[in-house]
Amino acid sequence: MQGLMQDWPLTVDRILSHAAVWHADREVVTRSVEGPIVRTSWGRIHNRAKKVSNALRALGVAPGDRVATLAWNSGRHIEVWYGIMGIGAVCHTLNPRLFPDQLCYIINHAQDRIIFTDTTFLPTLLENRARMESVEHIIVLADADVVARIAAETGAKGLLSSESLIEAQSADCVWGDFPETQACGLCYTSGTTGNPKGVLYSHRSNFLHTLLTLQSDVMGLSVNDTVLAVVPMFHANAWGLTFSCPAVGARLIMPGQKMDGPSIFELLETEKVTMSAAVPTVWQMLLAHLKATGERPSTLKRVVIGGSAVPEAIVRTFHDDYGVQVIQAWGMTETSPLGTLSTPTPEIKSLPFEDQVPFLLKQGRPPVGVELDLVDDDGASVARDGKAFGRLKVRGLAIVGSYFRGDGGEILDERGFFDTGDVATIDPAGYMQITDRVKDVIKSGGEWISSIEIENLAASHPKALMAAVIGVPHPKWDERPLLLVKLKDGETAQASEILDYLDGKIARWWMPDEVLFVDEIPLGATGKIDKKVIRARYQDHVLPTARRESA
Ligand code: ADP
Repeated sequence: MQGLMQDWPLTVDRILSHAAVWHADREVVTRSVEGPIVRTSWGRIHNRAKKVSNALRALGVAPGDRVATLAWNSGRHIEVWYGIMGIGAVCHTLNPRLFPDQLCYIINHAQDRIIFTDTTFLPTLLENRARMESVEHIIVLADADVVARIAAETGAKGLLSSESLIEAQSADCVWGDFPETQACGLCYTSGTTGNPKGVLYSHRSNFLHTLLTLQSDVMGLSVNDTVLAVVPMFHANAWGLTFSCPAVGARLIMPGQKMDGPSIFELLETEKVTMSAAVPTVWQMLLAHLKATGERPSTLKRVVIGGSAVPEAIVRTFHDDYGVQVIQAWGMTETSPLGTLSTPTPEIKSLPFEDQVPFLLKQGRPPVGVELDLVDDDGASVARDGKAFGRLKVRGLAIVGSYFRGDGGEILDERGFFDTGDVATIDPAGYMQITDRVKDVIKSGGEWISSIEIENLAASHPKALMAAVIGVPHPKWDERPLLLVKLKDGETAQASEILDYLDGKIARWWMPDEVLFVDEIPLGATGKIDKKVIRARYQDHVLPTARRESA
C-alpha cells in the first residue's frame, strides 16, 4: 500500500526559493576578487540566479548539459550555481588548483559547454582554450567594462560578462519541473591515483545531504548563525554550506580568494562570525596570526575541520586559548561529503577535557543516513576495539553509486557499500579513526603502520611545522617508514630530537628508520599532503637500515 502524502520533489532550487521568501534580507557578504566587500542577500541572489537561468537558456543550455564554474567562494558564484541547477543543468565545479593538463582533461571528460570564471583564472583558460573541445562560451564573473578591458589587453575573442548577461534578462523563470533524481552537480576527485573521476550528485542526494548536515550533532546551523565558508565551493560543495545556509537562513560570509590568517581574522571580526569550516592548514595560518599579534576572535563559537586529520595543537589552542569548539569531520567527494563527525556524546562530554581530546582527534561517528562498515581484505568484519585496522566502507543517502561515464566500473560491493580507500579503526564508543589511505599505509613485515599517526605526532613537535611519512622499500621488512619534517621558520633540529619525541608515543616497530628535514612538503589540489609526489621523489632512496641489511 502506498502512502498518501504529497509528491514534493527534493530539488535544491526549492532551498533558495524558500530562503528568498522567508530570509530575503539575510545578508551574503563577499570579499570580492577585486578587493572590496560586497553585500547582497538571499532574496537578491534568488532574483539574479533566475536571470542567470534565463541567460543560460538563451545560450541554448538544456537540462543535463554541463556548465562549469572556475571560481572562488562568492555571492556571484552562488547565483550561477543555483541558476544552473534550477533549470536542470549540471553545475560542474572546477578546482583551480589543478594543473592545466588535469583541468583540460576534466573539462573534456565532462563535456562542459560553458565555463563561468573569475578574472583570476582567465589567463590559464585562455592559454589552454584550444584544448577545451566542448567549451562554447567563457563567461567572466565581472562587469562589462572589466571584461572589455581584459579582451582589449589579451586580444581574447568572444569573452562574455556575467553582469551584462544578467542585466539583459528578466527574473521570470520557472525552476524545477524535473524529477528529483535529475543530476545537479559534478565534482571530480583529485585523482591521487589514476585519472580524476567524476561524482555526479542528484538534486535528491544534495537535498537529503543538506537535511543531514543540519542535524545539531552535525553542523547544527541556525538562522542565528553567521557562517564563514572558507572551504571552497569547488571542494566537495563547500561541505554543503551553500545549501544548508540558505535552507535555515543563516548569514553567509564568503572569503573570495584570500584565505591567509590576517584576512580570515578580519572577516571573523568585522562580520561577527559564529561558525566556520575549513581544512586544517587554514586554521594553522589563523592560529599563527593570532599568536603573532595577540589578537583574539570575539564571536566565533565553533569550527568544523576536515579534509585531512586535525592536528592536536589546533584542538587544544582553539579550546584552551580562545574557547572555540572544534568538530572534526571526515568525508570525501564521493560522500557529498559529510560522513562522520567527532561531536562528543554525553559520555565523552562528561569527561575532563584532557580525556575528551583523544576522541576529538578521531574522525567520529556517522549521522543517520550514513552507514559504516569496517572489513579486512577478505570482507570479514573487523573488531570495533579501536585497535584493529580495516577498510572503511560506506552506504547511505548521499553516497556515490558509480562514477560519471562509468569510470572505474562497478564500485559497490554486493551489499551496496562503497570502499572509501581509507583504512580505519572504530572504538567501542563508536568513534571511527582514519589511520591511512590504503595506498599510503606502510606494510612492514606483514603488519600495517599508520603513516597519519606518525605524521600527526611528529607535526606536534614544538619545532615542526609539518610532517609527512612514506613507506620506502626495505630488503628485510618490505617497507619501512621515512619521516620528512618541515621545521618552523628559523628553527634547526637534529633527527634524534624528533625520534626522542616519538619514543614511547608509538610502538617501537613504528619508529621511522630515518628523519629528513626538508624545505617543502608538497600539497595537492585540495590542500592535502601529496604522497604521490613524495613517493616519486624518494623512489630510489636507500634507508640507512636497508644499507646495513644489504651490506
Ligand atoms: P581528494 O581525495 O580529491 O583530495 P576528498 O575531499 O574527496 O578529495 O578526499 C577525501 C579523503 O580525505 C578521505 O578519503 C580521507 O582519506 C581524507 N580525509 C577527509 N577528512 C579527513 C579527516 N578528518 N581526517 C583524516 N583524513 C581525512
